[in-house]
Amino acid sequence: MASEQRSGGSGRPRQRRGGKPRYVPRRKVCAFCVDKVENIDYKDAPRLRRFLSDRGKIEPRRKTGTCARHQRKLTEALKRARFLALLPYTAEHIRVMTGRA
Ligand SMILES: [Zn+2]
Repeated sequence: MASEQRSGGSGRPRQRRGGKPRYVPRRKVCAFCVDKVENIDYKDAPRLRRFLSDRGKIEPRRKTGTCARHQRKLTEALKRARFLALLPYTAEHIRVMTGRA
């Protein structure tokens, strides 16, 4: 007699150890509030640069954690810095490609 061995159902417990979230949305504080900056200096290009994406766009608040008050001043400072050619309007590599003589 052939006895059928059959265990009912798949008794395989799905293992998922260590609930490790991929992205931790750490609470960010406004970099300017931390330094108690009242007026953002548009001449401080290296600092402002951190708030530009690699394509030269202004990073959104939710990415940089800048508060509304400072984000407002920041955009103004960034635009002023752009006008003075301290910061790029677009990504530099794109500019280089376009500016062909
Ligand atoms: Zn702030």
